[in-house]
Amino acid sequence: MKKIFAANWKMNKSPNETREFFKHFKQVSMRATGDLIFFPPAICLEAVSAALQGSSIKWGAQNCFSQAFGAFTGENSANVVKELGGTYLLIGHSERRLVFNESDVLISDKVSFAQSLGLVPMLCVGETLEEREFKKTFQVLEMQLEIGLSKADRNKPLVIAYEPVWAIGTGKVAAPVQVAETHTDIFNILKRLGFEGCPIIYGGSVKAENAPLLIKQPHVSGFLVGGASLEPQSFIEISSV
Ligand code: PEP
Repeated sequence: MKKIFAANWKMNKSPNETREFFKHFKQVSMRATGDLIFFPPAICLEAVSAALQGSSIKWGAQNCFSQAFGAFTGENSANVVKELGGTYLLIGHSERRLVFNESDVLISDKVSFAQSLGLVPMLCVGETLEEREFKKTFQVLEMQLEIGLSKADRNKPLVIAYEPVWAIGTGKVAAPVQVAETHTDIFNILKRLGFEGCPIIYGGSVKAENAPLLIKQPHVSGFLVGGASLEPQSFIEISSV
């Protein structure tokens, strides 16, 4: 399976900083051993679209609403992402779930809406530290996947990003054995739900130092990278494992 290296910039970088980033990143991007996907802030999407014209680097939005247009103040339209040339949508990131109270049902609507437009949803799932400590990881992931994918089309592309909440932005990367175990669980849940073959990527404090071991774990098809994707050099080092 082709590897996937995705960058989540969260609420970082301006359009000028975005243009500057790609000026440097395009010079090293050929070192990547898989597909490169960028999720910049929505306000930078036009800058990304222009910077990546004619490039094989893919991009999308960090969030979009589940309807095409209308009275949804502050939301972004997936149709516009598509019009600008984006191909992916990050959906259900833990910050959207925890800070903005997104439910699994809303997330399922976003997944199916993205697919209906021909965009590829990257659905994020993951447990909190408390859920892991109470041995609820499997149960939590099963519910997030069952509901999140309940309206998804099995014949259209989809990516799952496993991101343990306790490892995001904390510097506490999951141990390779935890990644192996949890990715195997997700693989089996996806198989039971009829989404066998869907790539599963890992996210949570991935750095150039831990990427080589993590990529060797079973059912790890790549990474979703936050902090370390903000600099061209650190992101390309991770993407060339
Ligand atoms: C993320 O935001 O999806 C993420 C994985 O962040 P970080 O790599 O900084 O932990």
